[in-house]
Amino acid sequence: MKKLFLGAMLFLSFGAWAQKKTKVDPVTAQINANKETAINALNSAYDADKKTALQIWDYAEVGYKEVKSAALHIQHLSDAGFAVETGVAGIPTAFVATYGTGSPVIGILAEYDALPGINQSASAERDPIVGKNAGHACGHHLFGTASVSAGIAIKELIAAGKLKGTIKVYGTPAEEGGSGKVFLVREGLFNNLDAVIHWHPDDVNAITTTSALANKSAKFKFYGISAHAAAAPDQGRSALDAVEAMDNMVNMMREHIPQETRIHYVITNGGKAPNVIPDFAEVYYYVRHPKRKEVVDIFDRVVKAAEGAALGTGTTMKYDIIGGTHDLLINKTLAETMQANLEKVGGVHYTEAEIAFAKKLQPTMVAPVDLATATVIKPLSYINEGNSGSTDVGDVSYAKPTVGLRAATWVPGTAAHSWQAVASGGTEIGTKGMLVASKTMALTAIDLMSNPELIKKATEEFTKSIGDYKYKALLGDIKPALNYRD
Ligand SMILES: [Zn+2]
Repeated sequence: MKKLFLGAMLFLSFGAWAQKKTKVDPVTAQINANKETAINALNSAYDADKKTALQIWDYAEVGYKEVKSAALHIQHLSDAGFAVETGVAGIPTAFVATYGTGSPVIGILAEYDALPGINQSASAERDPIVGKNAGHACGHHLFGTASVSAGIAIKELIAAGKLKGTIKVYGTPAEEGGSGKVFLVREGLFNNLDAVIHWHPDDVNAITTTSALANKSAKFKFYGISAHAAAAPDQGRSALDAVEAMDNMVNMMREHIPQETRIHYVITNGGKAPNVIPDFAEVYYYVRHPKRKEVVDIFDRVVKAAEGAALGTGTTMKYDIIGGTHDLLINKTLAETMQANLEKVGGVHYTEAEIAFAKKLQPTMVAPVDLATATVIKPLSYINEGNSGSTDVGDVSYAKPTVGLRAATWVPGTAAHSWQAVASGGTEIGTKGMLVASKTMALTAIDLMSNPELIKKATEEFTKSIGDYKYKALLGDIKPALNYRD
C-alpha cells in the first residue's frame, strides 16, 4: 500500500515536471517551430542545391567573370520572390536580393568565384581536367549555394507570417584577390542592416572566432626598351631586370619587417622570348599582416622597392592597386548564438563509399587528420591558431556585426586552395558540409529576427570594437579591377 502510494506520488510529480518542462513561452515555441520548418525546408531543397553547387563547380568562373554562376543564383532568388538588384557597386556579377519589409534586416553573404590554375576532377587521385584553367579550390560553389538556400528558407518563413523583417542575400564576386565586398561596403550597401551572416568551406565544423589578415595587393608594371638580346643588348633596358631587382629588394626587406607579415608575389609577365629584351614585365604582390596599419606601411615600402628597381634598371614603373581588405572583427555575442545552432545541426557523416574516397585522398595530403573531425563540432574558442588568410568579409565586419561559421566540406586534413579541395567539393562530401552551413545560417537568422535583445547586444559589442575608427577602404577610391584575372 505504502509502495503503491509512493509510486503514484512519483508518477504524479513526474507528470507535473514533464508538463513544466515542455511548456515553453510562446516566443520560444515560435522560434523552435520556425527552426524546425527551416531545417525541413533545407532538407527538401538539398537535391536541387546539390545540383546547383555542382553546376557552379563545373563552371569554375574566376573573379569578376562569374557570369553564369551569378545568373544561376539570381534566377533562384527571383523565382523565390526576392527583388534582385544586379550589377551593384559597378560590378556586373554582384547583386543584392531582398525579401520582406522593415526591421530587423539581416544579410547573408554569398561567394562564387573559382581560383585560376587549379583544376581537378571529382576524383581521389590527381586528375586535372584537360583544357580547364580554374577550379573551386576554396569551395565558393558551395558557399554561394548554401547562402542562397538559407536566404530562401528565411523568405518562406516571412512569407508565411512566421517571421518579421527583411532578409537580404548579397552576391559578392571576386573574393579571391578582387576584394569584391569592399566595393559593396564602400557603396554603403550594408548601411541599413542589423547583422550579417556568412560561412566558409573547411575541413572542420566551427564558428569563425579568430581574425583574418589585413591585405593590400597590387600589380607592378615595368616598361623598358626592347632590343636584340645578343646583337644589341646595350640598346635595351630590361623590364624583367626591374621585376627581379624589385623582388630581390623585397626579399631582403623580409628581415626588417614584423614577424607576422606575409608577402608573396607571382610574375604575371616576364617577357616572351629569351632573345628579345622584354620591354614589359609585371609582378603581382600581396602584403598581409594582422593589423591594417602595418599593411599600409609595409606596402608603401614595397612601392619604394619598385621605384628603386625602375631607377636602377633604366625602366619606368606604374602600379595598379588590385585589392585591399581589413582584418576580421569577431562578434562574440553572435558567435555564441551561432555555436548553439551549429551544435543543434551537427556535423556530417560519411557513407562507406565516402570513407573509401577520403582514405584514398588522405595519403596525398601533407597532414591528414582523423575523419571523425567532419562529424564533431569544435567548441567555441578564441585562441588564434595563427593560420588565417585574408577575406573581404573583413570590411563587412567593420560595417555591421558579422558572424560566420566553417563547415566540413573537405576531407579532414585538406588544405584550402589545393586540388584535394576541388576534388572533395565536387562530391557529396562537399555538398553535405554545405547543408550544415545553410541550416546553421538559417537558424542563426531566425534567432536574430526573433530576438531584438540579441541584436542590441551584438551592436553594442560591435560599436565598442570599432571605437573611434572611421572606416576607410585600404584600396582607396579605385574602381573594381574587373580584369585582374586576364
Ligand atoms: Zn575562400
